[in-house]
Amino acid sequence: MVADRLAPFGATIFTTITALAHEHQAIDLGQGYPSWEGPDFVKEAAREALLHESNQYPPSMGIGILQRAIADRFLVTSGIEVDPSAEITVTSGCTEALAATFLGYLNPGDEVVLFEPAYDAYPVGCALAGAIPRYVTLHAPDFRFDETELRAAFGPRTRMIVVNSPHNPTGRVFDRAEMTLIAELCQEHDVVAVTDEVYEYITYGTEHIRMATLPGMWDRTLTLSSIGKSFSVTGWKTGWAIGPEPLTRALRAAHQYLTFTTPNPMQHGAAAALKAPESYFSELRSMYQAKRDTLVAGLQAVGFQATAPEGAYYVLADHRSFGFANDVEFVRNLITNIGVAAIPPSAFYHRSTEGDHLVRFAFCKDEATLRAALERIARL
Ligand code: PMP
Ligand code: GLN
Repeated sequence: MVADRLAPFGATIFTTITALAHEHQAIDLGQGYPSWEGPDFVKEAAREALLHESNQYPPSMGIGILQRAIADRFLVTSGIEVDPSAEITVTSGCTEALAATFLGYLNPGDEVVLFEPAYDAYPVGCALAGAIPRYVTLHAPDFRFDETELRAAFGPRTRMIVVNSPHNPTGRVFDRAEMTLIAELCQEHDVVAVTDEVYEYITYGTEHIRMATLPGMWDRTLTLSSIGKSFSVTGWKTGWAIGPEPLTRALRAAHQYLTFTTPNPMQHGAAAALKAPESYFSELRSMYQAKRDTLVAGLQAVGFQATAPEGAYYVLADHRSFGFANDVEFVRNLITNIGVAAIPPSAFYHRSTEGDHLVRFAFCKDEATLRAALERIARL
């Protein structure tokens, strides 16, 4: 049964660490949720929908105004014009888009190329579908992949690669040469690229390249994202998939029976959000850049090896100067004795043990929380 296949994964690391953080009243730099509420114009739109109209089933593939708003943003950010009703599917978060893609597209025994550290939903998605992950390590400290290792991961049974950029937890934003190599391998081996772009707007001076825009890639790419990170509403669980009709059809086959649809008021809120002016997105970036710089400087000052991420809102720091056996021991001490929660990244590694000497801190927190956490961390 599926539960047996999922048993090795146990509880998600986010659930485990969040519970431990509460128990010890630790300042939570673990799970990646903002310490503030989303913008008023976004919440107002959802509230209006909730109070006045939209409390019954929306269409299974998403409400028209949200499909349209997703298509409009995609045109602005990629130059690609899509058919909103045929090529966009609204899902219950990027998580459901991922699950529906794995279940709808993969056959048991298919191979999927995953970069590690890998966000937990990818290996679990493979397990759900009976597919086999082939890992390619992003090597610390700069978290680039080795071309030979990537080439070796592709074979006759490879059916899909998952590309998460900006990347959780390393903060890498893959550059054009890296994306082009991935695209070439996809075409050489007739492989589909599934991109997880939930941090698409959180980049620090590095261009976010969409795989779907590279030559020959629209037809073999499903672009997944969601509203949670871009608008600081991670609890809304409203996401989408953009892709050509044959790939969309595979995902929809699973989506219509997994969740059927996504809560209607949240879809209205998301539609309003995506109509935000460009200034909204540049302010989001500069807000996060300041937080990134505060956290990186603070961690370096107390003795971590840490470099500033190119995107997303995590710092993956090297804790070896503090003398703990591994990341789990380090985080246990950090939560119980220092009062700060973080994520042990070994949970994201499957092939290499490089995660053991790293720790992930989230900086999607207000300035006072970051400063208070750094003061406690200084006690290390
Ligand atoms: N992908 C990545 C890389 C993430 O960090 C997250 C975190 N929430 C998700 C997917 C899940 O997105 P959602 O909340 O929209 O399901
Ligand atoms: N994406 C969030 C993180 O990496 C967690 C999401 C979850 O709890 N599943 O922190």
